[in-house]
Amino acid sequence: MAATSRAPSTLAPASFSAAGGSRRRRRCPNPRVRVGVGVRCSLDSNVSDMAVNAPKGLFPPEPEHYRGPKLKVAIIGAGLAGMSTAVELLDQGHEVDLYESRPFIGGKVGSFVDRKGNHIEMGLHVFFGCYSNLFRLMKKVGADNNLLVKEHTHTFVNKGGTIGELDFRFPVGAPLHGIQAFLRTNQLKVYDKARNAVALALSPVVRALVDPDGALQQVRDLDDVSFSDWFLSKGGTRESITRMWDPVAYALGFIDCDNISARCMLTIFTLFATKTEASLLRMLKGSPDVYLSGPIKKYITDRGGRFHLRWGCREVLYDKSPDGETYVKGLLLSKATSREIIKADAYVAACDVPGIKRLLPSEWRQWDTFDNIYKLDGVPVVTVQLRYNGWVTELQDLEKSRQLKKAVGLDNLLYTPDADFSCFSDLALSSPADYYIEGQGSLIQAVLTPGDPYMPLPNEEIISKVQKQVLELFPSSRGLELTWSSVVKIGQSLYRESPGNDPFRPDQKTLVKNFFLSGSYTKQDYIDSMEGATLSGRRTAAYICGAGEELLALRKKLIVDDSEKARGCRVVDDDLQKGDEGGGAELDSPRSVDDVVAVLEADYQRAYFLTGNFTPDIYTEDCLFEDPTIKFRGRSRYSQNLDLLVPFFDSPSLELENIEKGLRVETKFIMATWTLRTYLRLPWRPLIVIRGNTTYDLDEEYKVTRHAESWDVSALEAIGQIFVPAPKQTDDI
Ligand SMILES: Cc1cc2nc3c(=O)[nH]c(=O)nc-3n(C[C@H](O)[C@H](O)[C@H](O)COP(=O)(O)OP(=O)(O)OC[C@H]3O[C@@H](n4cnc5c(N)ncnc54)[C@H](O)[C@@H]3O)c2cc1C
Repeated sequence: MAATSRAPSTLAPASFSAAGGSRRRRRCPNPRVRVGVGVRCSLDSNVSDMAVNAPKGLFPPEPEHYRGPKLKVAIIGAGLAGMSTAVELLDQGHEVDLYESRPFIGGKVGSFVDRKGNHIEMGLHVFFGCYSNLFRLMKKVGADNNLLVKEHTHTFVNKGGTIGELDFRFPVGAPLHGIQAFLRTNQLKVYDKARNAVALALSPVVRALVDPDGALQQVRDLDDVSFSDWFLSKGGTRESITRMWDPVAYALGFIDCDNISARCMLTIFTLFATKTEASLLRMLKGSPDVYLSGPIKKYITDRGGRFHLRWGCREVLYDKSPDGETYVKGLLLSKATSREIIKADAYVAACDVPGIKRLLPSEWRQWDTFDNIYKLDGVPVVTVQLRYNGWVTELQDLEKSRQLKKAVGLDNLLYTPDADFSCFSDLALSSPADYYIEGQGSLIQAVLTPGDPYMPLPNEEIISKVQKQVLELFPSSRGLELTWSSVVKIGQSLYRESPGNDPFRPDQKTLVKNFFLSGSYTKQDYIDSMEGATLSGRRTAAYICGAGEELLALRKKLIVDDSEKARGCRVVDDDLQKGDEGGGAELDSPRSVDDVVAVLEADYQRAYFLTGNFTPDIYTEDCLFEDPTIKFRGRSRYSQNLDLLVPFFDSPSLELENIEKGLRVETKFIMATWTLRTYLRLPWRPLIVIRGNTTYDLDEEYKVTRHAESWDVSALEAIGQIFVPAPKQTDDI
């Protein structure tokens, strides 16, 4: 497949139409909760079989048994794409190592448990019924019973607690179930429904009924147009966009209909229309670390695969062979202050968009495939969890919403056009295994989109704003108290699926023979999603197996080169030294956001706010420094404060989990997520552990004007840690 060309026709679209209908706006009955009773989990039923009447590209057939040489493969990134690649390669007998910079696996669908036992998710995740590649993976790893099927309806919560439904429950399947859902929905007024129907009837999904491949091409050709432009040009109304399509667009791509490409929305609609269960939602029984990444990890390690957590790849080391061909000769990895170079037969970068941009050697940008990646960017998103002492989404029975013996309320994904979060769910109901806690109430998990305005705000302010909006949606929850909360910010999450961006997505196979890409942003016909990530992993593994003999030949050639020139080790040593250098301080003034990121990465490697060893030149003299306990101006004061604090730290470590750049209105910023661990030199040697974010606002000259930390614990809790003696196993830091 050509590296930059469009992928071949892969989707089997079909009809998705609706016609006008009249039905008075009504309050739908509150779907009852089904915790523990007759829960349908299995993937054997109610799953769209994409293998039937669907293009192979979307759901590739089982790979043939691999008979080539066994390869050693290094994968950078243990998100779903990296793990999907690993599973496929291990199944074919290869040797796999995964290097992940974070302390946990799963990437954007990852989660971890904080010190108090709360599962913190990177984001709210729902599984559409058409996620055949992901379901196949889940079955393979024994996680097929880990999903809970929700009622086949899409629920919209409007201000004041009015519920709108796009209800797909119907005795007859696709496309009729979809048509009736759109005719009967009470989320739109009659006039808007009629215009909606006209627009959808004129869409490529109708052609898909008779000519799936032609329709898919038509959908792809709509990549240059925003969904709003397309929809309005076909007769749809702005009111439909505001009340129904914007929340859906936000949920799918974290951007609204004016900014999302028509391709992205129509791709999903064709699946919804052709496959009865494609629009059926499932959610994990509990947290992703237990119910999704956990079983995948076990499958991988059971087959000899190895995870190396907190090992970030800092550099792709490459060379040119005498015949002028570029090849990767190793990866420079680092964990805290340790460095290592590893070698493999094939290297897979299964990163997110900001990750791959940081990793690619700048010289490779001479090739369009790589250079185009820099035209993609990620969308900021903020996920908030709010725990209450009652049942927030129980709209009908006030008494029930106040008791804590039984979980009650709306058990589904919920959309809303009337809040800054587009979709949300009460996880205590929808994913009860880890989130229902006896004696406690709702755990609302809300996804704030667009996340931009929320990124710079302190967590407390975000929580109070979201809490207020939850109350506006559910007035009946007035009086319920918030008992716990958390905020997770991702500066660049999904790639921005705006018009015209699809051609910039790279194929998994690259011009560098032993270097492959994987990740939901790479070329595949799903949107940036768990399914897209899984599918990309399958494609990457297939390419690697396809290149088995070639990769073996390259391995032999490199061994000969290395021994002949006896140069390989020296190169490695040089690289190691380079990695160990002080870094940022030696750089010229940063001339781009990437330069600042590089300086900060080096500063983090030196655990700068625990050692005081930082690069002052990247900050303006009057830079504002703030954390939950203090706020002041001046980089020299910051330096002095660190000088005072550093002697108190004992065995400090600072793990940089993630660093990425973002853009908010006119301001460029960088956001880093880190975990700090240190003992204090006090007689009772307390252990301080804080996970936090630092936002670095940049001025036009790329100097940091604001260095703002937010922590996963309140200022009071952080100070409280000082008074707790260290646990007995003091070495485990
Ligand atoms: C808030 C939120 C809600 C979402 N909801 C849904 C949903 O409901 N349904 C759905 O289908 N999808 C959803 N998604 C999208 C889905 O999570 C992603 O599309 C998918 O998980 C991407 O997987 P990936 O492996 O391609 O990338 P990632 O998950 O981003 O994995 C990349 C990994 O690479 C690591 N990495 C990067 N650089 C390096 C390096 N240099 N060295 C080592 N490691 C590195 C990263 O730490 C990360 O772990 C959601 C995403 C978010 C953020």
